[in-house]
Formats: sequence, structure tokens, C-alpha cells
Amino acid sequence: MLFRRVRIVEDDIQEVFTEGTEDVEEQQLDEGPRYPPEDAQLSRMVHYIFKNKKLPAVLPADVANARNVFPKHLVPLETICTECTENTLLSEPQLITSKATILTMTDVIEGISTYCKCCYRCGMIYRYQEWSDGVHNYDDHILLSLHLCIFLRNSLQTHQAIGSAVEALEKTCGKRFPSHQRVLYAYLHFEALTDHSYTFACVTCGYHPVTVVMDLHKKGVFSMPVSNIEVPPQDFDGKVNAEEFWEGVSLEMISRGLVPSNRQNPFVVCPSYHYWAPWIGRHTRSTSMVLNTEYSKVHTARTPDEASDFNITEDRLTDEILKLKMEAVRSLCKQCGIDSKGSRMDLVMRLRQEMQTRGTYDKIFSKVWGASGGWAVVTCPCAIVYAVKFNLRAESPRDFADILLSMTHFPNLTLYDFARGLATHTNLREPESMPFSPYEGRLLEPTDNNVRLASAGQIKVSLPWLTSKKVVPDENGHPLTGSSEHYALYDRFHEANTKDKKDALRKIELIPEVCGWVNSQCAEQLFAGMRKNNHFLNMMTPTSHIFLVRNILHHYNNARNTKTLEEMKKALHVGMEIEFNSRGQTVMGMYFFNTSYEKTIQ
Ligand SMILES: [Zn+2]
Ligand SMILES: [Zn+2]
Repeated sequence: MLFRRVRIVEDDIQEVFTEGTEDVEEQQLDEGPRYPPEDAQLSRMVHYIFKNKKLPAVLPADVANARNVFPKHLVPLETICTECTENTLLSEPQLITSKATILTMTDVIEGISTYCKCCYRCGMIYRYQEWSDGVHNYDDHILLSLHLCIFLRNSLQTHQAIGSAVEALEKTCGKRFPSHQRVLYAYLHFEALTDHSYTFACVTCGYHPVTVVMDLHKKGVFSMPVSNIEVPPQDFDGKVNAEEFWEGVSLEMISRGLVPSNRQNPFVVCPSYHYWAPWIGRHTRSTSMVLNTEYSKVHTARTPDEASDFNITEDRLTDEILKLKMEAVRSLCKQCGIDSKGSRMDLVMRLRQEMQTRGTYDKIFSKVWGASGGWAVVTCPCAIVYAVKFNLRAESPRDFADILLSMTHFPNLTLYDFARGLATHTNLREPESMPFSPYEGRLLEPTDNNVRLASAGQIKVSLPWLTSKKVVPDENGHPLTGSSEHYALYDRFHEANTKDKKDALRKIELIPEVCGWVNSQCAEQLFAGMRKNNHFLNMMTPTSHIFLVRNILHHYNNARNTKTLEEMKKALHVGMEIEFNSRGQTVMGMYFFNTSYEKTIQ
């Protein structure tokens, strides 16, 4: 299973489907330009659709409800060219096809006509892209009812692949849908055109969480030609414009409705070190320029401090190798050019030796853990996702440091199962400010006595500002606590995970204010859910994969936040709308935020 090859199947399937079914004569319009357009005109059209034809994030019920009656002729509403400064009338509608189909929950409605219009002055082309008729146009040949779109969205939330959902519908209504891949692309097109905020923030913790939990979803991988990643340009400073990058990803989704194959699509975004960005909500990140320094994983030598910490991740990787079948271990050795004879332990020891060099470590990692490096996910203790970073290479604390250093306010408590590595790495990167301090993010000074007491569970470290904000806030203090202290802690303390005795000073249990409250259970539920999505997410191209994951997480966040708000209203018998403060917390969220800590003291 671990050695399964991840194939890119989307394009192959779409290509076959497109070639087999498109009605070529109809593509050539009687007069006027080619449809769909190419090159510069294609680019104008894709940008125009993205900017001007968005669907609202919450669709009015009458539009999204089940229906089986749709207009038979779908004509663009535009009458005057929006691109020309003078009022230029557009051409008469020109037929694209009279054989388009609308897919609904219960039917495949055939014989729909789609039209385009063009501007004779500038060559701009307009197509039907309205939502008010309850239908979403993907590629002028396939349209989805908005009700079906919502159904597919909910199917994904319950870990059902688009393909399985479509299969169930086909069996129920007894009609054939287009290829599942094409329906997936149509759905991605719909989501890319929906005006989502992707806020990624919890209504209780606000835009600037005090406590964050970091975790790696290591099986969240996509097909990655590791050797072919372009080297970043000389002047690349490790910052990527996230807004621009993610817009580029959306544009790829939208352009697919206008190009015959992704192989000829100028909007395709290829994974690279310098144009690949994590997603962090707009209010949480300090600017649109967020860090992605993955290229340094490969091109920078490790400092001695980091090298000693690094043994930990090698240990973890060794553990994974030990779980493999003997045959798999042998084949791994062969692929790394290592002698593959001998016992399991012999082979594992040899692989371990090899891991000391970074190149081999990556190779072993990608063989053991899949194609790309999994997703680094940052949540609050209520398990709302604040950030997600899709790693091209093996995970390292660097990925989480990139996220933390891109945030406006560094959280006071960071929970991670390699806390020491994170603190060391982050402070080495920012030697001026030493983000993890005091005591390199440990709760106490690492004296022998403190270590002994903490190991024996005989000492507590009270952080009173967790329950009530400091009256006189520290310089650069967190807006919710007033404290500028930043700790890197273990939430579940695995003795086996750590060789450093001083790590006893990073146990979350030492803080009475949070004792028993912060646990990773919520995050674990999130990850268990996401694991159920691996079977379909991992088959996708890199951009489909990351676009859909961010989208699924956004809907997951929304549902969770809505539930929290409803519970608050119920608990406080509030009938009115709940208000938010400037930090994105509900006014009651502040109340809950403080009391949830207090509860744990009693
Ligand atoms: Zn024009
Ligand atoms: Zn929260």
C-alpha cells in the first residue's frame, strides 16, 4: 500500500472523453472568431469570468432548491462590451451547441442550446455564466444544476468521492452521466467561481489564536516528480504572494471549462519552490506575502543544532520502515542503491546510515510516505483549521515555522509533537527576535533541578494571563493575553519521541490553566475524517488536490463555526444575531474563551 504509485489520471480521462464526444463542426461558428478562444483572448475571457461572474457564497434557497425545469436556450446576458471604453454592442448570440446537457439529482436533461456573443471591436467573447437560473455552466456542453453542486459539496464533507456520488445518482435515475472526472472538473469550476472568503478562523478563538496545534497529515499526497522541481530564481526570498498564487489555482479550475485538454492549458500551475504557497486566512496572516522556504530543505546545509534535532525525524522514519513488509524494505534498499541482502534489521540499519545524507532521506521519505510531503495543518484547540501548507518535500519543522512567521501575532502556546525541533529551527531563523522565548520556548529555565521536578510531575507553571489578560501588556504582547511569551510544547508526551531530558519542561500538563483542556482529540477527529478522503484526493493532479482540500477544509470550518454559534445562542438564550469584535471573535466567544480556561482550574 505504501508503495502504491500515484498516477495522474485526470487528464488522460478528460482527453479521451473530449475527443470522443465533442461535435467539431459546431465549434466553428458561422462567422466571427473561434470558440472557445485561444491565447490572449482565452486569457481575457477566463479573467473576465473569474472577476465578474461569481456565485454568492450562500445561494438563495429558491435558486439552489431541487428543480427540473431550466431554460432551453442559455444566452449570455451581456449586451455591451465591458472591455471597450465606448459603448460597443455585442454580436447576436451565436450557437455553440444545441446538444448540451444539464445534470441534476434525478435526470440528465438533453437538448440544451448554449450561445456566445463577441465584440467585433476588441474580439472579447462572452458565454452564458449566470447562476440565477439554478444552473452552472462548466464547458458549454455540460451544465450542473446548483442543487446537484450543493449535493456534491455535502458528499465530499461525508468523505464520499465525486465519482461514487455520481455513480449512486446514475443508478438511481437510470441515466448515464459524463465521465466522473468531467463532473469533478465541473464541480471544481463551480467552487472556483463561488465567492468564498476562505477566512480560516474560529469564532471562539478569533483571527489571532492564543494556542495552536500543529499536525502533519502525512498521507495527503499528490503525484510529484520530485526531481523535476525547478530551482527558484536567484533573487527568491522565500516569500510567495498567497492571494495571487491561490487566484492562479482558481483560474486553472475556471480555464478548464474553455480548453479542450489540460495539456494545452496555459493556466496550469506546476508545483515549484518559488510559486507554491500555504493558505492562511486573510485576517490571520500579516500580509499576502507568506513564507514558503521549502527550497532550503534541499539547498541549505543543516546547522549542528538542527542536525542533532534531526535525528528525531529519522527515528520516526525508521519506525515507518520497520512497519513495512520485508519485500518492500528490500526494494527500497535497491532503489537507494544499497545492498539488499540480509535480515530486516541489517537493511533498516543500512537505510538509516544512508538517511544521514539529505538527498537519500528525501528519497526514502517519498518512497515510504508517498509522492509529496503531506500537509502541514495548523488548528486552534477547537479544531478549526487556520492554515494548511502542501509540502512538496518531506516534512520538517521549517514548514510550521513558515506558517508561524507569516502570522500577524505569534501564538503564545504552540503544540507540536516535535516541539524542540520547531523552537530550535525558528530561533535559528530569527536570531534577532528569538520568537520562542523565554528559555527557548520551555516553560522553565532548563536547570537540573527543574528538569528533575518536571519529570517527576512535582512542579507547575502558572500562566495567569491565559485566563485574564495582563493589565499592563508586554511590548509586542498577544492582543488577547497581553503576553509576549511564546512556548513550544508537547501535548502528548511521548518519552520515546525525545532524547533530550530538558523536553520535560515542554509538557503542557505543567500549566494548571490549561491542564486537561487542550487535547488533540478534536484535531485527531479532523485528521481521521481527512484520511477517509485520501483515496480520491491522492489520485488528483497537484492543483486539483490543493484546491479541493482547501475548499473542503473551508466548508468543514464553516459547519463547525455555525454549530458553535448555535450552541452559544442556545446556552445564552439569545435570539438576536451574535456580534463579532474586531479580532473575529464573537462577543460571547471572548466570554467562552475565558471561561473555558477557568473551568479547568476548578
Ligand atoms: Zn470590446
Ligand atoms: Zn477555536
